[in-house]
Amino acid sequence: MEKRLIYFDYAATTPIDSEVLEKMLPYYKENYGNADSLHAFGRKAQTAVDFARDKVAELIGAKPSEIYFTSGGTESDNWAVLGGAYACKKRGKTHILASQIEHHAVLSSMERLEKEGFEIEYIPVNEGGRVEVKEVEKRLKENTGLVVVMKANNETGAIQPVEEIAKLCKERGILCFSDCVQYVPHRNLDVNTLGADMVAISAHKFHGPKGCGVLYIRKGVGIEKLVAGGEQERGMRGGTLNVPAVVGLAHALELAYKNNVAREEKITALREKFLDKVLELDGVSLNGSFEKGEEYLPSVFNLRFEGVENTSFLYNMDLSGVAVASGSACASASLKPSHVLTAMGLSEEQAKSSIRFSIGKDTTEEEIDYVAEKCKEILRKIRVKK
Ligand code: PLP
Repeated sequence: MEKRLIYFDYAATTPIDSEVLEKMLPYYKENYGNADSLHAFGRKAQTAVDFARDKVAELIGAKPSEIYFTSGGTESDNWAVLGGAYACKKRGKTHILASQIEHHAVLSSMERLEKEGFEIEYIPVNEGGRVEVKEVEKRLKENTGLVVVMKANNETGAIQPVEEIAKLCKERGILCFSDCVQYVPHRNLDVNTLGADMVAISAHKFHGPKGCGVLYIRKGVGIEKLVAGGEQERGMRGGTLNVPAVVGLAHALELAYKNNVAREEKITALREKFLDKVLELDGVSLNGSFEKGEEYLPSVFNLRFEGVENTSFLYNMDLSGVAVASGSACASASLKPSHVLTAMGLSEEQAKSSIRFSIGKDTTEEEIDYVAEKCKEILRKIRVKK
């Protein structure tokens, strides 16, 4: 019998939707033109890109000229942070703030800026993994140029008060960037309600292709370019556009926006079922604070298994055919404890006993029951008694 495989790692990536793939295929074969070529092949590709740009803009409440296609969330994050900081420096503003729980794509860019002489400061989070607006406000200075706070965290699902932070920034002429890579797959983001000047999105998190993303840059916000080359993306991002992926991104986003509300209801019920079963086990707790009414994405939850090494738990889950993660996918090869969990006040040991579960549109009740049962069995098998 074929081994059963269950995917509880939707925050790392998602399978492409067949409808999305269908839309992309003609742009690999018949309509393979370079969108910048002036001949008929190029024009066909350009028309598809224009359509995709208009669609993305309409969905997120932006203007088409504010949408820049990139190679994914990492590039969008790098571009917003570095390009934003370099533009601020020209105006004499070299103080940059970012939350402690940002994705490594942001944190690595911050480290680079620090080496280049920028003054970098990190905003702490509370035990629920949320940035408090007052913690941002008290750090703002005359020379603060850029504030970076993600909308939803990839390890805990904690939703951040970006609307209020963006408002503070706007009042003081400070740029605000929000990584919405984990938020957009679940909630219908509107950039005007959010208020941030820049927003990052990545297609593979919402059943689109890997290697394609968006950086939204509000009109009038001038940032430096990151990828230099040809005149693509209005001269702001060089490189031949990945036309099939851009087409796929726009279609996947449309499907997400159409289905997000109904999916959230289903996913919330599944999460509750899972937590009811697993939290009653000895020494299992939730990293976060749902009971305080704090807002979290229902698709991501982070559990701590006392007396258990997460690598061993993960390995045993994998042997049982279940894919879960010890943190974000890009850091899971590292043995370091999660920077998100330690920022929430967990000890190194507690962080190393924690597992991220992330479910999605195709998760079933039967899978929930199976994984909950496996948690019980694995705990019995590997837990080190003190
Ligand atoms: N930002 C967040 C919050 C993410 O979860 C990820 C992916 O894990 C990224 C950025 C990077 O996106 P990509 O995989 O498209 O480079």
